[in-house]
Amino acid sequence: MHNHCWVDVKEPSRAEPSRSGYRTAIGLVFYIRKVSSPLSIQPVSTRLTKERHIYKGSEVRLSRIQLNMEGALTARDRVGIQDFVLLDSYTSESAFLDNLRKRFRENLIYTYIGTLLVSVNPYKDLEIYTPKQMEIYMGVNFFELPPHLYALADNAYRTMLTEYNNHFILISGESGAGKTEASKKILQYYAVTCPCTEQLQTVRDRLLLSNPVLEAFGNAKTLRNDNSSRFGKYMDIQFDFKGAAVGGHILSYLLEKSRVVHQNHGERNFHIFYQLVEGGEEELLRWLGLERNCQHYSYLVQGECAKVSSINDKSNWRTVRKALSVIDFNENDIEHLFGIIASVLHLGNIQYDADNKGSAVIGNNAEVRWISKLLGVSVLVLQEALTHRKIETRAEEVLSPLNVDQAYYARDALAKAIYGRTFTWLVNKINESLANQDPSRKTVIGLLDIYGFEVFYINSFEQFCINYCNEKLQQLFIQLTLKSEQEEYELEGIEWEPVQYFNNKIICDLVEEKYRGIISVLDEECLRLGGATDLTFLEKLEETVGNHPHFVTHKLANQKTRKTLERGDFRLLHYAGEVTYCVIGFLDKNNDLLYRNIKEVMCKSRNLIVKQCFMPSELDSRKRPETVATQFKSSLVGLIKILTAKEPSYVRCLKPNDGKQAGRFDDVLVRHQVKYLGLMEHLRVRRAGFAYRRRYEIFLQRYKSLCPDTWPHWRGPPAEGVERLVKYIGYKPDEYKQGRTKIFIRYPRTLFATEDAFQIC
Ligand code: ADP
Ligand code: MG
Repeated sequence: MHNHCWVDVKEPSRAEPSRSGYRTAIGLVFYIRKVSSPLSIQPVSTRLTKERHIYKGSEVRLSRIQLNMEGALTARDRVGIQDFVLLDSYTSESAFLDNLRKRFRENLIYTYIGTLLVSVNPYKDLEIYTPKQMEIYMGVNFFELPPHLYALADNAYRTMLTEYNNHFILISGESGAGKTEASKKILQYYAVTCPCTEQLQTVRDRLLLSNPVLEAFGNAKTLRNDNSSRFGKYMDIQFDFKGAAVGGHILSYLLEKSRVVHQNHGERNFHIFYQLVEGGEEELLRWLGLERNCQHYSYLVQGECAKVSSINDKSNWRTVRKALSVIDFNENDIEHLFGIIASVLHLGNIQYDADNKGSAVIGNNAEVRWISKLLGVSVLVLQEALTHRKIETRAEEVLSPLNVDQAYYARDALAKAIYGRTFTWLVNKINESLANQDPSRKTVIGLLDIYGFEVFYINSFEQFCINYCNEKLQQLFIQLTLKSEQEEYELEGIEWEPVQYFNNKIICDLVEEKYRGIISVLDEECLRLGGATDLTFLEKLEETVGNHPHFVTHKLANQKTRKTLERGDFRLLHYAGEVTYCVIGFLDKNNDLLYRNIKEVMCKSRNLIVKQCFMPSELDSRKRPETVATQFKSSLVGLIKILTAKEPSYVRCLKPNDGKQAGRFDDVLVRHQVKYLGLMEHLRVRRAGFAYRRRYEIFLQRYKSLCPDTWPHWRGPPAEGVERLVKYIGYKPDEYKQGRTKIFIRYPRTLFATEDAFQIC
């Protein structure tokens, strides 16, 4: 058997040679696939001859396309199927898993369910993100090449350009599944493949380099992932009408500030601290008063793993330093920025002793002096703020000394506040540098990479917020796929066997419902003066949501479950599994209180960044600031609004094992993810459903030239015109259905064939 065959293709010579040669090749392969095996025939190269011919009165070019037909029949067994929709036993979870495993073994980490992309983290570098690969996927129809992130990215991009609408790519999956990597790869794809002028080069570089900067300040090593995103990120890439990337905008969500002052065993603080200490230039460290030794800093060693073999802090430092200058940070900004980072480290080393009245006094003044220098505040004022609290009565202000515990609390609160606000400042600064001033209309593709579902041995307020966010995104996914898809069939009068699925709205309500949800109860306890503690919050929860089917506590549990619950815990049955939360710290973290006198000191800072982060207007306001959970809830509502106004694409990332290991596919773990991500339901809806739908008018307008009855004009009702048209071009009855306002096309290949016929004609 020959491994290759050659096919000659004629095409108009005005077309751009290599791209269009390839495109036509793809179209051809598609036709060949239709009559032979649906898989494994791939074009391997396009060769253009220099010959020119006249065909139908115009000049054409002859291309030779080499097709690889190797193992066309046997390959399917070895590499599985690239679209689950084509799976014979599509209702069987085992068959689904088999296919995924088979492909994973062959390093084929991507598989489609229709237009959704399933990705399994390979935990090793694969040669599939090269510029050559990018070129292969450029401008090629979605299903005509092996599944890839690039295909999904390219599809969104081309649809945006032809339909002139906005898109978003939702990347989901649990922590460590590969979301952040996927979002970076998509961004790189656009950076390389979109048209770019010399002028736009800076925008492109800034878009790309915003990543290492934000990761340095917002990512950290956790038990699940050595580079775990500890903030949520939504990034709009703005394109002009020619498809060039002309700007961007980033929204960040709830940074896990508590990490600045505390890390669990086996985890680290944010990368930037280690990068600075390990990689910072001698002169810079001297200026900041830092030693080149992470072990010296209390805030860096609580997880007892300051050094990690997989992370190169030194070289990452260089990348970040370079990136900062490209993103328009001047030397002043950089000085002030690292002044803050160093101040946080000095703050962490402040020790308190108790005087004879039990009041806190600072044991070592060296740190305070450094902070005073770096933040530009007076030593005395700072000392006072770190050991006293100002209480305002109607008549006067009284300074009351803090005891040692309170003083540590105040110190940590300040460290968290300046770090958190500096992060927000950083995002704003990046946004300024990405902003596009040109008022002409732009379309966008949004990339959502947000912290994934998290379960640790001890789960706290942070995991509660992160998992709530994942519930909301799952809800959006359900709304936009399972629910709306089925509703549309109903609306269009298409015969349809409904698919059952678990709707997690009930859990979203449990968390966020007004007056009765967990966040409301938490806020109420935070507002209650006197006597409110984490445990009274738990009691209130038991009173309010105690009988909710997704909520359990020690008191409410049956005997069997009770053994696994402590008295200070509550457990939520999330869509992705059970998580037990320890209530200790909930009130505090939700209040996120910073003493007033500390704010006053920061407002007077001569460090320009701190100055912008602490505005005097904050001191004038008597209004209680919104709690953290409520702010987060509103920001998620805003995010969902942004997303629902756009066309979605989905990437579902799966984690193959819990050990960050290459080549290991843990069946139980993957099966669990397949289940909770609703992939089987999605497949059933897809399989029973139709890959494409188009309004009759639009379909007719585009393809009317393919049928003599509809060309050049069709004067009757569009539905009838479409019927004539599709019958004429040979659609089989099982390939499409006609709804009230739209034609529904079952398989992508049918539409692609029509599109190719249109292009050729
Ligand atoms: P998430 O954002 O979902 O928590 P990441 O994207 O940070 O997870 O991925 C965790 C780690 O897994 C990465 O640091 C990288 O080592 C590895 N990884 C993820 N995706 C890929 C990929 N496509 N190819 C190779 N390694 C990957
Ligand atoms: Mg991430």
